[in-house]
Amino acid sequence: MLTMQSTKVNFLMSQLNTNSVLPEFLLDLHAVVAVYISNEGDLIEANAGFYNLIPIISEYDNTLNLREFFIQPTFSVLTSQTSNEKISYKGMLTLGNRVAKTYTLNGTFYRKGCNWLMIAEHNVDELEQLRLLLSNLNRDLAQKQRDLSRANRQLILKNKQIEQLSLIDPLTGIGNRRQLEKTLHAEIERTRREHGECSLIMCDIDNFKLINDNFGHDMGDKVLEKFGELISQHIRPSDFSARYGGEEFIILMPGVSTAKAMLSAERLRLALSKLQIDMLPNKITASFGVSELIAGDSPETFIKRADSAMYKAKKTGKNRVESAH
Ligand code: GH3
Ligand code: MG
Ligand code: MG
Repeated sequence: MLTMQSTKVNFLMSQLNTNSVLPEFLLDLHAVVAVYISNEGDLIEANAGFYNLIPIISEYDNTLNLREFFIQPTFSVLTSQTSNEKISYKGMLTLGNRVAKTYTLNGTFYRKGCNWLMIAEHNVDELEQLRLLLSNLNRDLAQKQRDLSRANRQLILKNKQIEQLSLIDPLTGIGNRRQLEKTLHAEIERTRREHGECSLIMCDIDNFKLINDNFGHDMGDKVLEKFGELISQHIRPSDFSARYGGEEFIILMPGVSTAKAMLSAERLRLALSKLQIDMLPNKITASFGVSELIAGDSPETFIKRADSAMYKAKKTGKNRVESAH
């Protein structure tokens, strides 16, 4: 291919330099195609515009015979003129390779002695159509890029929302165990860094199974919802609440000592005992266990001590607040 191409270049160069038929001003033009051809169809001389089309003919002709290059009209038709008229054809010319790309040019085929000269220009209408097509494509592309970045922004937002939702308990709307684990980790670190206090309340609804058994699962759900609401109303913005399991809730209280956390648990216990739930004749009570963060605590041991305190409250009659020792 390279050899073929350079053969052509050498041939063209030699033809351009010696016995040049084409006017010099045409040689470097790209938009105008000028080619001087023998009666047998061999290329004698061509300008840059014609050379642009050369890769196409190279696929089937490495001898630079151009007969096949003229598709419509064919070379035979173009050269069938027997009179001495200088112009043998004027109009649209389809050139190129039948199986690959073809070009539509607007040009004139001249008789020049016993040879032929073609001067043609690219079809301006076609170029204008291409220019329009390109500008439409560019506009579409810009629009698509805007749509894509908008969709990306929405995706980022949706991912954030999904991330948020994955941390929320759907029944009560407060944090779930996953969010508790994240928050607990961060708050333990912070408390240690600031040499502060941090307490945790574990709450478990008393005899909850009986509510389900006697009034149905939906009523059980309603009780959980109401308890979640009550907790949200009672905690401070710096506190964090989560549903830890079935009817177990945890309140994390950064900056709070055992004594104050026990007071908060007691207020919550009282509020719960006064809570009225539609269609539920029973009073709801819960048992509470309080622990305070100590040196060497992990999230698990911190929770475990509150759980043990809560278990003590259950064992000593339920509806009570106990603290860990
Ligand atoms: P205790 O006073 O000792 O805590 O007894 P309890 O009945 O509250 O505890 P137990 O562990 O025996 O029963 C808890 C029940 O909570 C069992 C389970 O079916 C129910 N439960 C767990 N999750 C849900 C839920 O999402 N909705 C409802 N309605 N019930 C639930
Ligand atoms: Mg339980
Ligand atoms: Mg229970």
